[in-house]
Amino acid sequence: MNPEDIQRGIADNLARVEERIGAACVSVGRCRNEVRLVAVSKTRPLEIVRAALLCGVGDLGENRLEELGPKREALIEAYPRVSWHMIGHLQSRKARQAAECADWVHSVDTLKLARRLDRFAEEAGRVLPVLLEVNISGEASKAGFAAATREERETFVGDVQSLAELEHLAVRGLMTMAPIVAEAEQARPVFASLRRLRETLIETAPWSEWSELSMGMTDDFAVAIEEGATMVRIGRAIFDIS
Ligand SMILES: *Cc1c(COP(=O)(O)O)cnc(C)c1O
Repeated sequence: MNPEDIQRGIADNLARVEERIGAACVSVGRCRNEVRLVAVSKTRPLEIVRAALLCGVGDLGENRLEELGPKREALIEAYPRVSWHMIGHLQSRKARQAAECADWVHSVDTLKLARRLDRFAEEAGRVLPVLLEVNISGEASKAGFAAATREERETFVGDVQSLAELEHLAVRGLMTMAPIVAEAEQARPVFASLRRLRETLIETAPWSEWSELSMGMTDDFAVAIEEGATMVRIGRAIFDIS
């Protein structure tokens, strides 16, 4: 595909996504600027990612550090203000790299990982904004702090207390992956549960900030926004060019 077609394709996709984000916000009386669009550029080559940046995308999401690192390296000079979001599962042994090059980590799913990120963020001389990934649906295959039952949620609140002691992590909210379902509407209960869990945390763990809800992807972002998403992670709807 020639560069002009790539640019046009990405611009069209972004316009459509923006329209749907705007409509979802209006339908529940929210403002567009309450929702941050994280363009998920994983597996996409640099020329495609550049096309999105030229359109004004300010947040990129990657699920592997092996990809986030080099892409950021290649683009940071031309686009120094872009925020890089690590959204995929993170192994503890990669904590140093994440603490050095991610602007956000959405996928903090164990205390052990949090402690390592904290240590390396301290070494890097920064405070790393993170979201706690929560397994709301209780699927065995899913990463995240368990929070499907009342007991699990109580344990989670205890973990949250330990997390607050980590001075080089700034907990900013929650993230979840909805189950893969046939209809976006079927994901709604999961998004609503994450929102309710946030409301509980605002009451029970007021020492941390719970402003962010990272939920919603290509197939279900409108429903996620209706349920309060402040960050949507969208890949295919932006980067698949027909
Ligand atoms: C790939 C990915 C997304 C985006 O998925 P799309 O269906 O392409 O929008 C969002 N979140 C995570 C964690 C991902 O790995």
